[in-house]
Amino acid sequence: MNTFPMSDFEARTELLKERLEIIATHTDEPGSITRWFLSPSLRKLHETIRGWLDPDKFIVEVDAIANLHIRAKKRLDAPTLLCGSHLDSVRGAGKYDGPLGFLLALDALEHAPEELPFNLDVVGFSDEEGARFQCAYLGSCYLAGKFPKDYLYLTDENGVSMKQALKDWGTENPEALADSPPTVSNLLGYFEAHIEQGPILEEQRLSCAAVSGIAAQNRASVVFRGTAAHAGTTPWPLRRDSLVGVAEFIMMLEKASEKDLPLRATIGMIENHPNASNVVSEWTKFSLDLRHPRQGALDLASEEFHALALAMCDRRRLRMTWDYVMRQPSVDCDLKLTRCVEQALRSVQPRSLTIPSGAGHDAVAMSAICPTAMMFIRCRHGISHHPDEFVTPQDLRVSVEAYSKVIENIAAQHK
Ligand SMILES: [Zn+2]
Repeated sequence: MNTFPMSDFEARTELLKERLEIIATHTDEPGSITRWFLSPSLRKLHETIRGWLDPDKFIVEVDAIANLHIRAKKRLDAPTLLCGSHLDSVRGAGKYDGPLGFLLALDALEHAPEELPFNLDVVGFSDEEGARFQCAYLGSCYLAGKFPKDYLYLTDENGVSMKQALKDWGTENPEALADSPPTVSNLLGYFEAHIEQGPILEEQRLSCAAVSGIAAQNRASVVFRGTAAHAGTTPWPLRRDSLVGVAEFIMMLEKASEKDLPLRATIGMIENHPNASNVVSEWTKFSLDLRHPRQGALDLASEEFHALALAMCDRRRLRMTWDYVMRQPSVDCDLKLTRCVEQALRSVQPRSLTIPSGAGHDAVAMSAICPTAMMFIRCRHGISHHPDEFVTPQDLRVSVEAYSKVIENIAAQHK
């Protein structure tokens, strides 16, 4: 039987908690948790993790884009199940986003039963958050053979290009990243656990959920243009106030989103000009982030919002420019692998639950080369990307057991 040695889930959870604390001490900004892509703290973390592993049993390698790979020395002539998550963070992060998924994978590898019918490999991606170069999934894009050359010329806030940062890290030929085929092959799948980053598990009073897929996402940069005018002398009917236009548009988004609950529409950034207390606004630029689990519904909503904005600008005598800066298609998780997650959840908690992910994950990039599955873990008040991120010890314990059961279930499928 492919079963994990019983019991010791308590001890394994204790070790996982200790390791979470240790990872959190690896930071580029003392006083907070901040691990940039290709940074000294990421390099130090790789060495710390290497120190946890028995060199007689495991091979630890860092690839050209600084992904950490851990494999058992004993290899089977069989496909590989790749498990893991990311090791970078946003600025001022919490302890769990990324490291928890990585550590659960590592725990499963360290306690894997002898007779798994596949190789179980662990990856710690070097960049998922995109915090340094404002461009996400760098590690998994490279693994999947989808690393665009343009990325090399992006610069960080200190003006360092990604190409230079890679050279400084020790990657001799960064240009070669762009044209490389997938660096992993014969994958039977990619499995990742991650904190939920939302409130559904808390509301449903469950520790973990399976993930049906990752929402499609469109991001646009929009500008409304009017005319600057004197705040004291220009009556309302004569104003062409760009900021009032944006205010009305925000309310339209909220109203439209009420009709289609899975739709998420967010204006998170506004730049207003001339931004003076006594001047009617001349132009206002804003970001628009639209997400929906279904691609067709997202594209329809995007078109509808564009039409609504255009009509409203017309009425207010404003001009509009609307540029899509990102179009991320939705990704469906693999049904067979997801069944393995659901089955595992039924054995460790009162019932299984399957929900879509509104946040992006490395599974988006990995889905280009293999089937993917994900498991979410409840986090307090759905908070993430913040020092208050928290998972209870009990939920950690459940997730350790669930993770092992997922691997067992996949093994049973591949016998
Ligand atoms: Zn994450």
